[in-house]
Amino acid sequence: MSEQRICKRCLAREMPDAGYFENMYEYIANIDPQIKTPEALYEERLALCKECDNLLNGMCRTCGCFVEMRAAIAANSCPAVHPKWSSLG
Ligand code: SF4
Repeated sequence: MSEQRICKRCLAREMPDAGYFENMYEYIANIDPQIKTPEALYEERLALCKECDNLLNGMCRTCGCFVEMRAAIAANSCPAVHPKWSSLG
């Protein structure tokens, strides 16, 4: 019997069943560049999420969204009471 690992601070793209999220990645890839977060800022946001206690299995426990999705829209911000990243513009 294999032991199932729980990936607390993983992004969805880092999980063993990342293929399950293909539709999300396709959606992110096709976001209108006018509203999409620039790549460098996107990775900065995700790095902050990875250090956050609210990240669980790729989801933010504060809002219930997948952080890779939330971070991909420039106007979005971290939903925490003390936000770790903010909207662009
Ligand atoms: S609270 Fe903010 S930093 Fe933490 S996982 Fe959610 S979106 Fe990311």
